Amino acid sequence: MKPLLLAFGFALLALPSFLFAADDRANGLAAFAASNWKDAYLLLSAAHQSAPSDRDVSLKAYHAAMAYAKDLLATQRHQEALTVCEWASTIDPELVPESFRFLVSHNKGMAELGLGKIDSAIRSFLQAKELSSNPTTLQALGVAYSKKEDWSNAVSMFTQCLRSGGKPDLSLFQGLAHAAYQAGDTGKALEWVRQGILAFPSDPTLLALDAKYRRENRTEERMRESTGLNFDVKFEDLSEQQDLRSKILRALDEAYQSVTRDFSFYPDKNVRVVIYPSSVDFSSGSGAPNWAAANFDGKIRIPVGAAQGSDDSLRRIVTHEFTHFIIDKVSKQNCPAWLHEGLAQVQEKNEKGWASAVLRRYMGHKKTREQMMDLKTLEGSFLSISDPERASLAYAESYLVTKYIIGQYGMFKVSQILEDLAGGSSISDALYGRLAVDSSELQRRWMTSFAEEFHLDW
Ligand SMILES: [Zn+2]
Repeated sequence: MKPLLLAFGFALLALPSFLFAADDRANGLAAFAASNWKDAYLLLSAAHQSAPSDRDVSLKAYHAAMAYAKDLLATQRHQEALTVCEWASTIDPELVPESFRFLVSHNKGMAELGLGKIDSAIRSFLQAKELSSNPTTLQALGVAYSKKEDWSNAVSMFTQCLRSGGKPDLSLFQGLAHAAYQAGDTGKALEWVRQGILAFPSDPTLLALDAKYRRENRTEERMRESTGLNFDVKFEDLSEQQDLRSKILRALDEAYQSVTRDFSFYPDKNVRVVIYPSSVDFSSGSGAPNWAAANFDGKIRIPVGAAQGSDDSLRRIVTHEFTHFIIDKVSKQNCPAWLHEGLAQVQEKNEKGWASAVLRRYMGHKKTREQMMDLKTLEGSFLSISDPERASLAYAESYLVTKYIIGQYGMFKVSQILEDLAGGSSISDALYGRLAVDSSELQRRWMTSFAEEFHLDW
């Protein structure tokens, strides 16, 4: 009896699986006909597994996988999209019509780009480009090269995209102008911005870039550039300012040593610096508000007069701006302003009695307390704050909350948050993941701790 039972058991197990496969095929094809891509993908990929030579199933499974991946990408579900694409790339490409073959590599690249896997994304897009010079792939490749700060390849891909007859969209012009500017060709960047403005005359980003590039062209025209070990410095060659410029360069070198060490991050390219011959040139050239001593917008911009104060004040100014440069790199340009400014100020490593004084003033009364800014508001750039009083509140809050995080949770947690941001996380997800608080709870905690420290009744 025993062998029979075993044989029976085997048959019983095998039979439904076969039936399921037949169901998968029929149900999958029905889902496909109804454009229900998720079900079509799940059912047809299972049917393909049991009958890999069924051409109709393989082709439709591929199509369903690509349509489903597109939906996943549109809702930022990059990891799931990647899994779907990895499955689709196991289908024999010979079964897929030539004009659709590039899609799997293209979508895989989009998922990798979303996950911050830039090198893999570039490889996938290059594979897709081999199969089709689709403008969307060329543009995505330009974006990936930009993320890698490979500006000349980024310019080349964006330009090819434009020439290949792709619909010139707004982000293409923005990307192209930015890449040309970063590649050091402000004149060309201006040309692209102007072409963009012809097509999109009221786009605020293009208009702002136009103003910025024109401003820079005007003030940097008379400057020359010198390349050092860690810095490329633009300056106006006025001999009477040589000592001040040397002081700034020495301070920059010291900042480089200390900040790269503290963040264990060493830039692979020279840092770009512009030293302005006067504060007037600094404000007109950088567009910084008049309360700013220096600024960072991808380049460190500093008026030569910063070296006329004490050595300690110069050290703080330069360290502050250089820290912005490092945070920008470490977070892959995804750090909210309050953490950027907080870390830049902490890195200055001096007592900031003024910050506590500002906070005591605001927290002391219900009416002024309501004027304080929450962390959400402090995520965007402070350069748009024109009122110096509001600006100092924004800086004070940023400094104190960042100090609170470092004191309560440690610098290691801050590094992890920066890593999460670099991987594409939002600041709320990073805070929740690493500190188990949301931003309003964090705000409540640091303010409570501040109030206790200064015996405030609130
Ligand atoms: Zn700053």
